[in-house]
Amino acid sequence: MMVQTSKKNDWKRGPYSRCYWIGYVKGETQYALRRCPKCVELKLPREDAAFCSQDCFKASWSSHKSVHLKAKLSTVREGTLDRTTSAALNEGWLYCLKKGQARTSNLPHFDWTGKLRPYPISSRRSVPPEIEKPDWAIGAIPNIEINSDLQNKVEIKTPEQIERMRETCRIAREVLDAAARVIKPGVTTDFIDEVVHEATIAAGGYPSPLNYHFFPKSCCTSVNEVICHGIPDARRLEDGDIVNVDVTVCYKGVHGDLNETYFVGKVDEASQQLVKCTYECLEKAISIVKPGVRFREVGEVINRHALMSGLSVVKSYCGHGIGELFHCAPNIPHYGRNKAVGMMKAGQTFTIEPMINTGVWHDRMWPDGWTAVTADGKHSAQFEHTLLVIFS
Ligand SMILES: [Zn+2]
Ligand SMILES: [Zn+2]
Repeated sequence: MMVQTSKKNDWKRGPYSRCYWIGYVKGETQYALRRCPKCVELKLPREDAAFCSQDCFKASWSSHKSVHLKAKLSTVREGTLDRTTSAALNEGWLYCLKKGQARTSNLPHFDWTGKLRPYPISSRRSVPPEIEKPDWAIGAIPNIEINSDLQNKVEIKTPEQIERMRETCRIAREVLDAAARVIKPGVTTDFIDEVVHEATIAAGGYPSPLNYHFFPKSCCTSVNEVICHGIPDARRLEDGDIVNVDVTVCYKGVHGDLNETYFVGKVDEASQQLVKCTYECLEKAISIVKPGVRFREVGEVINRHALMSGLSVVKSYCGHGIGELFHCAPNIPHYGRNKAVGMMKAGQTFTIEPMINTGVWHDRMWPDGWTAVTADGKHSAQFEHTLLVIFS
């Protein structure tokens, strides 16, 4: 996830969902029967939803949860939804509008730049109450982040903060790897989101994108011409697609943020070149990171390498400082001749996350308010790491 340059908005408070346990008495014997809250939400048959205890429910979870996905997917038919069914699904499987603050059952009108279209998104996933959450988990607005001094000055992390960030970044890497393992033709990006969500909470973390400025899902999945911030939806990945999965985990009060672009089945030569070059851009940028290097140099290195392959660099989205805040100073542009001020100092942490396009660098925004696509509909790739500046 990254910062969009020069965008300010006043945000409204958003809704949030909770988890309910329903217990009841059967005959004379008291059975503490548990019904899966998701099955209750989806109005699935009682037989599928009943467990003898919470432990039993937990033990069955990994096999049981596929029931939800199957039920949800069965309601999606070629991009159109039955209104009655969707109403019964607690606002599930609708198209996203207004940055996640609204939904619609019809495909919005838009001058689509390429072949890709949005698909309906599922209802919100819940996070167990025991997991520590950032302020936006409830209110949608990251007030602490917005009002922090660290939007203007670059923090030098303490050894204790660095230690926590190492732990969190390791979890984020493991979560991304779990997502990568399920990528293949026929899998929906919503399922990738489910994997990211479940893996994150299983590690005791909060999926940072969830409800951040109303973002409706737990990771970003950006397919083909999507530059970044694609919303996981009901579309099935197709042979020849490229898909970026961007994961951020919040754990022990700090964030770890990384992303990678994956091939789905057999990908054409041009897209393979794009993904390879984008990976090299990140590697080259990382190789210059050390105390005393100017932040603006990152963009020079990336731009030089992308141009050499006849590719272009996205300008509207940048890398960012990270730590106890998801997004803070410094702003790290990836393009050449940028105006980033200041130089790197030991103890600083920030992301580098170049987005490289096959065609023009210009971007457009889909009606969902999040999905950034290339203006010419040609493919875009990205790789991201969270970095710590050290003396070497
Ligand atoms: Zn990210
Ligand atoms: Zn990021």
